Formats: sequence, structure tokens, C-alpha cells
Amino acid sequence: MVPDLKTALAPNLDQRQAQSLYRYRRVLEGPQGPEIQVDGRRVWTFCSNDYLGLANHPKIRVAFMQGVQEYGVGSGAAHLVTGHSRAHHELEEALAEFVGRPRALLFSTGYLANLGVISALLGHQDAVFEDRLNHASLLDGGLLAGARFKRYRHRDCQALEAALAARRARRKLVVTDGVFSMDGDLAPLPELATVARHFDAWLLVDDAHGLGVLGEGGRGSLAHWGLGMAQVPILVGTLGKALGTFGAFVAGEEALVETLIQQARTYIYTTAPPPAVAAATLASLRLAEAESWRREKLAHLIAQFRQGAAQLGLQLMDSQTPIQPLLVGDSAAALKLSESLLARGMLITAIRPPTVPAGSARLRITLTAAHSETQVERLLEALAESL
Ligand code: PMP
Repeated sequence: MVPDLKTALAPNLDQRQAQSLYRYRRVLEGPQGPEIQVDGRRVWTFCSNDYLGLANHPKIRVAFMQGVQEYGVGSGAAHLVTGHSRAHHELEEALAEFVGRPRALLFSTGYLANLGVISALLGHQDAVFEDRLNHASLLDGGLLAGARFKRYRHRDCQALEAALAARRARRKLVVTDGVFSMDGDLAPLPELATVARHFDAWLLVDDAHGLGVLGEGGRGSLAHWGLGMAQVPILVGTLGKALGTFGAFVAGEEALVETLIQQARTYIYTTAPPPAVAAATLASLRLAEAESWRREKLAHLIAQFRQGAAQLGLQLMDSQTPIQPLLVGDSAAALKLSESLLARGMLITAIRPPTVPAGSARLRITLTAAHSETQVERLLEALAESL
């Protein structure tokens, strides 16, 4: 007999609810920004990834609309069939130049890029080594590849070294976030690169949260550390965060990109993003690079927030990036704090397991260049009142 769907699924949903792990969505009625309309109310938000405040920039809106005029809406097919437009192609060239690599390949999302690149490079005879706090898509990519899978302690190069020394494999790949998405701290890339090289392993860096924010011109974590392709042959970047649009890319040498075109299933078997998104991203890349005041303002707001939080005795994490999580621990308490802030007109979603490790629920506070000093001040006041 076919089991009744509701009867089969309900216990799990009930359990999530009881453990304060149930996930909800809120409905935005209008553009992203520091002040948004959500569920019929105007609130200030401190939890988007729109770090440079570009998601609703007038020039990027215009570029998007011009893209629609020129290319229509849908791409119509996968890149390898007939979906790869001039706009996609130009964006790939601009991204490659931006990160100083011969080639870049667009993927529809960062999740797909990470699944695609890891599973195209590795198979059963290989081994992948991942920071414990890597983004889910990197972990899933390692699992999908069917490679031997080892997670090492967060930012712990000695643990990585021991793991690499203990494994024999055809290919070894070390995988890390450049900026950790839920903690905001940086991976120790120079040390990771040295360890990887010592054990003949490639290093893949997913710079979803560093690109546009760190380094000269916003070139990201690698620019911040002064590293290039010799140390980090495989670079993943996403476009839906600091660049304010949508999509992702993998950048590296010719052979890497050609291999992905031949073999990355999440590249080959999915529809290309709308060309207008690529046109908009090209405009946002130019803005992000040129308008360094956005990074300067962000740095200023981060310093203001951290200083104010220290005065309030709040325990922040060791992060100098726009991701400034406030660790709560208990999921129910994190939800309660989020609700209390919402009552004060501040939207900061509670992040709970399994997105973060058990017992480490938090408010993932993020700052953007579109916030004002006053907004940060009020956020601190609201936190003081809510805690
Ligand atoms: N990598 C990291 C580190 C991320 O934080 C995210 C997004 N949360 C992704 C990849 C996935 O990117 P996308 O949202 O474009 O799928």
C-alpha cells in the first residue's frame, strides 16, 4: 500500500517544530535594501548578503532592463546548446580579468558551481579534505564526487596536514570557504596553500563572501592574502552577494575551464541564467571595482558595530568582515531574540542547526555599505534592549 504522505511526513515536521528548528519564510514586498517591506511592515534589515548595497542600484537596474531589451527574458537552453549569449561571454571575460585568471566559467548558482567543479575533478580513487564549517554546497560536492571524504577542524592546518599525510589517493583536493559564511572569519589561505602544496593537493577556495568585499578593488580573499593561481588553482566566486545579482563562476587555467565545460554535470544539464542577469552583473562588477568608498564605508560600519557591541559586553565572533554573528547557542533563545528585535523593527533571521553546528544558533548580523551610522547605532540599542 502506498503510505499516506501526510502521515509519513508529519512526525518529522512536528519534531522540528518542537525543537525550535522549523524554518519559515518571510514575504518581501519590494526591493532588497537596509529598509524593506516584509509581511506588510517596513523594517530595517541586517541579514542580507548585499554587502555593497548594489542589489537595487539604479545603474544595475538599467543594465538589467537593457539586457531584457536586447536578449529577452529566458536564455532558452543550456550554455552548450543555444543558451550562451554574448552577455554571458563578456561577463566571463570580465570576471576572468577581474580575478587575474585566464578563464572563468559561469554557473547558474554557487551551489551548482561547487557541486559541478568538485564532482568533475574527483572520483572514487580521489580524496577531498574540507573545513568542518565549509558551506553545504562544498560538502555536498565532495559527497557527490564519491571521493574519500575527510573534514578537518575549523581553520586547523595541523589537522589538515595529519589528514593529508594519512591518505593515499590519485588526486587530493583541499576545499575551503575564503570567508566562512556563518562565522565571518577568514580561512588561513597562505598556510592552507603551503600544506596543500606539500602533499601535492590542489586547493579550491570558495570566495562567495570575500569577492567584492576584501582586497584591492574588491578582488577578494586571494587579493587580501596576496595569493594567485599558483597557490589556489581553483577559485569559485558567487554573484548573488556583494555583486548584488545572481549566479556564480569558477576561474582558473584554460584546462580547468575546458574540463568543466566537458564534464561538470551542473553546468551541462541546466538552463543558462537569463542573459540580462549577466548584463546586470557586468555593470555591478564595474561599480564594485570602481567605487572603493563602498568598502571603506563598510569597514567603518563594521568598526562602529564592533566597538559598540564591546561596550555593551556582547560576545561577537572573531570577524572583521560584514558578517558579525551574535552567538546565542540555544535555538529557541535565538528565535526569541530575533522576534524581540522584529518587534523593534529590525529583521535579523535566527540561524539554527543544521545550518550551524548543534548548540551554536545565532543571529547572523550582516552590515552593508547601504546602512547608515544611525542604523547601526539603533541596532546596538535594540540589541541592548532585547538581550
Ligand atoms: N558558497 C558559499 C560560501 C555560500 O555562502 C553560498 C550561499 N549561501 C553559496 C556558495 C551558494 O551560492 P548561491 O547562493 O549562488 O547558490
